[in-house]
Amino acid sequence: MKWVRFFRTIQAKLIIIYVLLILIAMQLIGVYFVSVMKNSLTSGFTRDLNSKGEMLSIYAVRYLTPKVDDQTSDALSIEGLNDLVRDLININDGEIQVLDASGKVLTTSLQAHQAYIGRKNTQTVVSRALQGIRDNEDEMIDENRVRKKIVAKPVMNGTKVVGAIYIVASMKELYDTIERINNIFVSGTLIALGLTALLGIILAHTITSPIKEITKHATDVAEGNFELRSPVMGNDEIGQLSEAFNYMTQRLHHALSLHEEEKEKLQSVLTNMSDGVLATDEQGHIIVMNRRAKEMLRVEERGATDQDITELLGISMQHINTLEQEARPSMLMKLGLDQEQEQEVILRVMFSTIHRRGEGVTGIIVVLQDVTEQEKLEQSRREFVANVSHELRTPLTTIKSYVEALDDGALEEPQLAGRFVGVIRNETERMIRLVTDLLHLSRLDSKQAILRKKPTNMVEMLEEVADRFSFQMKQRRIKPSIFIANGIEQVVLDRDQIDQVLDNLMSNAIKYTPDGGVIELEAHKAGADRIAISIKDTGMGIPKKDLDRIFDRFYRVDKARSRSMGGTGLGLSIAREIVKAHGGTINLESELGVGTKVTFTISTLDEGSEAS
Ligand code: ADP
Repeated sequence: MKWVRFFRTIQAKLIIIYVLLILIAMQLIGVYFVSVMKNSLTSGFTRDLNSKGEMLSIYAVRYLTPKVDDQTSDALSIEGLNDLVRDLININDGEIQVLDASGKVLTTSLQAHQAYIGRKNTQTVVSRALQGIRDNEDEMIDENRVRKKIVAKPVMNGTKVVGAIYIVASMKELYDTIERINNIFVSGTLIALGLTALLGIILAHTITSPIKEITKHATDVAEGNFELRSPVMGNDEIGQLSEAFNYMTQRLHHALSLHEEEKEKLQSVLTNMSDGVLATDEQGHIIVMNRRAKEMLRVEERGATDQDITELLGISMQHINTLEQEARPSMLMKLGLDQEQEQEVILRVMFSTIHRRGEGVTGIIVVLQDVTEQEKLEQSRREFVANVSHELRTPLTTIKSYVEALDDGALEEPQLAGRFVGVIRNETERMIRLVTDLLHLSRLDSKQAILRKKPTNMVEMLEEVADRFSFQMKQRRIKPSIFIANGIEQVVLDRDQIDQVLDNLMSNAIKYTPDGGVIELEAHKAGADRIAISIKDTGMGIPKKDLDRIFDRFYRVDKARSRSMGGTGLGLSIAREIVKAHGGTINLESELGVGTKVTFTISTLDEGSEAS
């Protein structure tokens, strides 16, 4: 496996290419060189044999031309020929025969072939030579598998063929030489291949090692490590690739950092938004939900799977789709009772779709706003307007009916007319009181009422309250009592405003306490920088169920009774607003049939003589 993998590498491929190229080149050179060499050697060898044959044929003419006058010439010539073929020309591992005109062997240089003397040499080359043809060559392989060259030359005396020279020479040496050259080539090729492979490994390594580096770098980059740089070795293609890769890494890092930064910004905007934000894909699966949205939808408390928008908001996709058709797609959603505050949470849910060009709707963005307070305010504003209208309509209706009665003739009866005018005056005064109270409240609401705080004597202030109501109390046989704890002689407060609070509370205490009751006015310390003033009566008290709403505007326990006593239903609200402006709190404890105690605190810290 390891080897298979190696052969798939560029390094192996390069080495194989180098080796094959060298092999092919060496083979081509070798084949060409050896064949040229072989031709040259063979033709040189043949030429040499031919020239030896020619030379012999010239020498042999003398011996082969019979001389009529000389009887010993025949014997001499044979001897001479023997010397000629044995000594004059030496042919390694070969044979020279001299033949007469009939082709009969006159002499041979080879001892082993002495028996051939006198026999006819019938080879084709010999026949051709005896016919006077000069170039006669042939090749043969003898019984020892040695290749031999045969050359036959005619011996001419003038134009007459008097014999022939027959030469056989072994080509072994020639072929040995060729084989040696071949061996040199083979060993040379092997050495060249070895060196090429070695060089190939080194060269391929110089190419593949930067590629390996870049590959490693690419893996690192993919894993998010942008600090590494590929080494740039030279200015070749690989060097340029390394440079380009480094540049790409740098750009990628930059782009990713920007992307991360943008993501973080978006994340922090989403996290710190006061509105809840949800994003879904086209199927409604939630892909983004900020912290505020989780809080608003109480994802964790409800154990809701924050996977699906329909599940989370409890509405169907069709509903969302229908809402989206509207110009400003939004809806109000009530989320049950808040466990901590025990109140209903009202959310405004706004939808907008994400469109991508060519792909249609790819998701929904949902923005959630907590409009509980807003809705509550809106609700109380509506109630307030209704209450004011109602409170004004009642006296106005009464006035109208009495005026009509006067108009219809009651004026003629002075006694009746006087009573009617009295009623009208009462109702008008009630309306004036109501409007004055409303104006007072509205000034307190809009923080226009400026507190003019001055050091005030507590004893004097509470005694004056009791004095103001002494006539009423005497009439109703109600006994007042005043108790002021030590150390609170002087308190800095807006006397007019606090008088208003005390008056409201005192008038309530008197109004709702039966004849002969007791009203206690008390002032004591409530902490280091706070005093508490309370007015306690032994009156009819307030049912428990009404205590929560007793400070609401126009809230009355017994409407008819309060109205008949001239109450506007705003007294406690005004008292609460004034106390609040003084940085204090007011609370009411009451038991039905036993009595009521209203306590308010004010801060004794001098925050300046004027505060809004
Ligand atoms: P009103 O002008 O009707 O007195 P307030 O805001 O002063 O309006 O009081 C609201 C309601 O609280 C009254 O209508 C009355 O029913 C109840 N209330 C206030 N003070 C007392 C009290 N001391 N004893 C019994 N009921 C009281």
